[in-house]
Amino acid sequence: MHEMGIVLEIIDIVVASIPAHLKDVRVERVNLEVGKLSAIVPESLRFCFEIATKDTRVEGATLVIEEIPVQARCNDCQTEWTIEGPVFSCKACGSGKVELLSGRELDIKSIEIAEKESNHADHCA
Ligand SMILES: [Zn+2]
Repeated sequence: MHEMGIVLEIIDIVVASIPAHLKDVRVERVNLEVGKLSAIVPESLRFCFEIATKDTRVEGATLVIEEIPVQARCNDCQTEWTIEGPVFSCKACGSGKVELLSGRELDIKSIEIAEKESNHADHCA
């Protein structure tokens, strides 16, 4: 299961990206983009995330995984289409000069943090 290694890396990046001057912050959401060809199982990723964030500043954050479809393009006829798995020839002209445009991503798109609730009463709307 290589998802745990990936999750640990994600947590490192998230923790490092929390502004140093903000002490009492909670990470609410981590938005990830995962390509369908990246060989990552979203369920395993979420499972590992939950375990690995325990006792870190990321504990309790929601991991949001957006799956990026696999886009292919034929270099002979320029046809672009979405595929479900590895592809070796163009669906339009049969050419083998097919390039994968997307599908292998593993990116942290954004991180949402919130300041911990203060004792001020003015947040009661
Ligand atoms: Zn083609």
